[in-house]
Amino acid sequence: MKAEIFSIGTELLMGELTDTNAAWIAGRLPPLGIQLQWVSIIGDNLENLSEAFSRGLQRSDIVITTGGLGPTQDDLTREGVAMALGETPTVQEDALTELQQYFQTRGTSMPSHNIKQAHLIPSSQFIPNPHGTAPGWWTERNGKMIICMPGPPAEMHPMWEVQVEPRLREIVQDEVTLTRNIKTMGMSEGAVDEVVSEFFGKENPYLGIYSKADGIHLRIIARARDISAAQSMVDPIEAAIVERLGPYIWGYDEDTPERALGRSLMARGLTLATMESSTGGYLANTITEVPDSAIYFKGGVVAYSDTAKTAYGVPAETLRQHGAVSQETATAMARTIAHNLGADFGIGITGVAGPLEEEGKPVGLMYVAITGPAGEKELQLRVPPRRITIKRRISNTALIELNRMVNELDQAPD
Ligand code: AMP
Ligand code: MG
Repeated sequence: MKAEIFSIGTELLMGELTDTNAAWIAGRLPPLGIQLQWVSIIGDNLENLSEAFSRGLQRSDIVITTGGLGPTQDDLTREGVAMALGETPTVQEDALTELQQYFQTRGTSMPSHNIKQAHLIPSSQFIPNPHGTAPGWWTERNGKMIICMPGPPAEMHPMWEVQVEPRLREIVQDEVTLTRNIKTMGMSEGAVDEVVSEFFGKENPYLGIYSKADGIHLRIIARARDISAAQSMVDPIEAAIVERLGPYIWGYDEDTPERALGRSLMARGLTLATMESSTGGYLANTITEVPDSAIYFKGGVVAYSDTAKTAYGVPAETLRQHGAVSQETATAMARTIAHNLGADFGIGITGVAGPLEEEGKPVGLMYVAITGPAGEKELQLRVPPRRITIKRRISNTALIELNRMVNELDQAPD
């Protein structure tokens, strides 16, 4: 089954609203065995919508849309479907009564414009919307489907989960899709690409490579009649990747650097403390994304100035001799915070976040130090000079490198 998604709304075309709906839906299609071929953003324009629906019905089996189902005159998704199919919407008395009740229970009467939302064409059925006034439209004609859902994610997500996905699962039974994500850090995208090059370029199983803030990800996607057939397509590629990239792999599928690290620390009963400068608390924030982080995270400080660094115990002499942006300072930060908070591991981060260079050092030059029971690790990195990129990359690098150190410990020290 081939599908396409329309994200409808002029505000999306103006750059005022980011299209998160399409990505959300896209992620839910592969497990259903539905192949997404196109995603389009279309403004609230009747001719353009009608043209898009006509083309969508020719080239796809399913068109899934969000947006444009509101009561206002600029919401034209229903009208676009009707025009493309050459059908005339008529008011449905049941739906109108329900809509009036919706407003009544909220203590107001229904504005006349909402009557639009009680209209249907002969090829369509309503998809109930308990969380808003706009019901969806499920349209079928000549074996093709158009599924229209409201734009607000709080209404669209439950409509998809409760009504749309179960119905689609019954209709689409021909294939399943299995996805395996393998996450690496420490090798460049080009180097990873080279090592597994023979697996690229095939449609099924498909191998994709993606550069992310937490390293280079490889994604294997296999389509087959059932899960075990798909699994046997994924396995040999995964085995080859693991064999060739083993030491660089830090996680799989839904793993994040902070979750992977959390698991490793908890399994050994070890703890962590952080002192960060240029990442401004991003590291501590990331660590505490994990629900159980209180078990192993003793705390972190943001030592943004030299004053703060010395106040938290970094020797003034280290700062004077080597500067705030130095490996020596990063290491002193890691040692100091681990000592002060009685943690097994300490992370220290310092560097130049920009926009201007500091101490004659360029923007994006970063130092990370990790101290722990089995010694210290020091890293000097160059990151593109964009503040959020620096924060993400350096925090992730610190967490992944620490996870490696923890996993290299033979036994948990008592
Ligand atoms: P509409 O159904 O067109 O009236 O959209 C109503 C609201 O839904 C918008 O103001 C947005 O807040 C949200 N919305 C619509 N389309 C999208 C989209 N593609 N991604 C995320 N939010 C959206
Ligand atoms: Mg709209």
